[in-house]
Amino acid sequence: MKTGSINVTSENIFPVIKKFLYSDHEIFLRELVSNAVDATQKLKTLARAGEFQGDVSDLKVRVSVDPDAGTLTVSDSGIGMTAEEIDKYINQIAFSGATEFLDKYKKDGASIIGHFGLGFYSAFMVSKKVEIRSKSYKDEPATLWSCEGNPEFQMDTCDKAERGTDIILYLDDDNKANLTLKYTIENLLKKYCKYLPIPVVFGKKTEWKDGKEVDTDEDNQINEVNPLWTRQPADLKDEDYLKFYHDLYPMAPDPLFWIHLNVDYPFNLTGVLYFPKIENNEFHRDKIQLFCNQVFVTDHVEGIVPEFMMLLHGVIDSPDIPLNVSRSYLQSDQNVKKISGYITKKVADRLLEIFNADRKAFEEKWDDLKIFIQYGMLSDEKFYEKAIQFALVKNTEGNYYTVEEYRKLVEGNQTDKDGQLIYLYSDNKVAQYSYIEAAKAKGYDVIETGGQLDTPWMNQQEQKQEKCHYNRIDADTLSNLIKKADAKKVEFTESERRENNALFQTQIPVTSGEDGKKIDWTIDFQAMEETDKPVMVAQNEWMRRMKEMSRVQGGGMNFYGQMPDQMNLVVNTEAPVVKAILNDAKAALGSQLSAMTKDIEDKEAQIKPLEEEKYKAKAGEFPQDKDQLLDTLRKEVEDLKKQESEAVGRYAAGQSNLHQLIDLALLESGLLKGEALAKFISRTQTLLNK
Ligand code: ADP
Repeated sequence: MKTGSINVTSENIFPVIKKFLYSDHEIFLRELVSNAVDATQKLKTLARAGEFQGDVSDLKVRVSVDPDAGTLTVSDSGIGMTAEEIDKYINQIAFSGATEFLDKYKKDGASIIGHFGLGFYSAFMVSKKVEIRSKSYKDEPATLWSCEGNPEFQMDTCDKAERGTDIILYLDDDNKANLTLKYTIENLLKKYCKYLPIPVVFGKKTEWKDGKEVDTDEDNQINEVNPLWTRQPADLKDEDYLKFYHDLYPMAPDPLFWIHLNVDYPFNLTGVLYFPKIENNEFHRDKIQLFCNQVFVTDHVEGIVPEFMMLLHGVIDSPDIPLNVSRSYLQSDQNVKKISGYITKKVADRLLEIFNADRKAFEEKWDDLKIFIQYGMLSDEKFYEKAIQFALVKNTEGNYYTVEEYRKLVEGNQTDKDGQLIYLYSDNKVAQYSYIEAAKAKGYDVIETGGQLDTPWMNQQEQKQEKCHYNRIDADTLSNLIKKADAKKVEFTESERRENNALFQTQIPVTSGEDGKKIDWTIDFQAMEETDKPVMVAQNEWMRRMKEMSRVQGGGMNFYGQMPDQMNLVVNTEAPVVKAILNDAKAALGSQLSAMTKDIEDKEAQIKPLEEEKYKAKAGEFPQDKDQLLDTLRKEVEDLKKQESEAVGRYAAGQSNLHQLIDLALLESGLLKGEALAKFISRTQTLLNK
């Protein structure tokens, strides 16, 4: 019998294992089972090389629990360890500078395990005592090693006839009850060991007999030893990919596409990535599972796959990713960067392939696929370069074009007088129906948007493509959206402009925008074509986009979110009905307003030179009496304008044609609601009864 001290500053190791690794303490089972699998694979390798003659066809790793004894055992029939090997691999903890290392990683304890050969010692996270019983494939006596969670161990020979290793954990009081539960262990094994390459068995399969659950003769094998990603794509059918997907995500709908990754140079990586079908705009990150030689490691793949691909599902398996080091280290690791770059490239290539091979199928899936592609284009320049070949634009007719095809389609007709290509889009085909029809009547094409990332994607396109601009179909009048010639000027005098403005401004019902806030209206007179709409609602494209982005992003964009909705009521001064309304108003109000108008003009004529004088004067040198006069005049003008506007308002209140026009424009843009809508209906009925 040999006793001794575990080598290398091991006093430091047990407290660290107990305390700092505690949060992730379930990984001990992964470590022990992987060691057992490794030992089994090593034996198979020896057999292949002719260095071991026994039968290796049916080697299994067995996990068992004994609730009465409070033990958990992991057994394998692998190569086993001689006493000398136990001394070397277990006693001499195989790294130097342990103290320094432990100090550094105290905060991030889980990162030590595995990476520095402490896998076996993780057993002490849950045990008061651990035994190793091992018999090597070499003809040497079996060894019993035991240790009670302190630097002292005992080693002796023991009786063990069969080759292999049993690791017996005497669970500590905190873990005894839970870790001897069949349910707990089965779940842990399913989480970490589901795809290990050697059969892992936990008890027997059960069946119901005479109202009782009883064991059958069949081993309860936890894992699938040849999971899909380890097989050759050529041997696999669509059904296989779908079945594997549903094994991973039982509740999910069928995925859109999958990509089988398989590379052995310059690093090893296999896996299958699925593009999930997104339902109800629910995105789930952290669905990709990361494996290392078929051992489940984590489903937090941040830093390993590119950001935008975290929305994908599936598995990635690579022995080359340093799995047990801290996240910040991972992100700066060159290997990991290469892997991430490779995955991006591979996914982009595959999408292009699918697009080229079966464009129709690609188009059919585009609406679901779009969010991934746009996210990728927005966040990854390399992906953008490829994706621009297959990113699609859908128009309101339901036809799909590549960005380049679409540019060719519309550039003839939709380039404005300054050479700027104008793309028109609608994010709500139903609400913007009449705007879309008007555009089509002019021979324009309208893109259908409405996806969560369309707005930032269009922003990006405006930056990437030269001289182009995206305008929502209701952002302005068509002749302003795509300016073909310099617009005709509206010829109003100053007072006409004020009075006409008041005519409309005073009669717009109180309306609220999408965010429920009151809308600030501006009246915009434009001399369009006689046949163009007399009155319409337009919302400034830029302002609307900023508000939209603020809704999505919050943060610094909040400023825009808090601004009131601003909209324009565009009045076409060339439309006959508008002309009639303006003329009628002029005739009815002319004499009443002319005195007021003259008064305003006289006063403004006095204000102007005073203002100039004040502007030129040095600070404090503008005479006080003049300053007072200026104030008084300004106030008087303001009052007069108010009276003027009120007079116009009183007249306008009785003009049903004016109200009909305003309401029709509001109706067209979906803003006529509540009381205003009721008034419109009853007014229309009255007009019809006339
Ligand atoms: P790692 O597996 O990272 O090398 P461990 O502490 O888990 O670190 O194991 C140390 C070594 O002990 C292993 O490399 C292996 O040589 C040996 N070992 C552990 N478990 C077994 C086992 N079940 N059968 C044979 N050898 C084992």
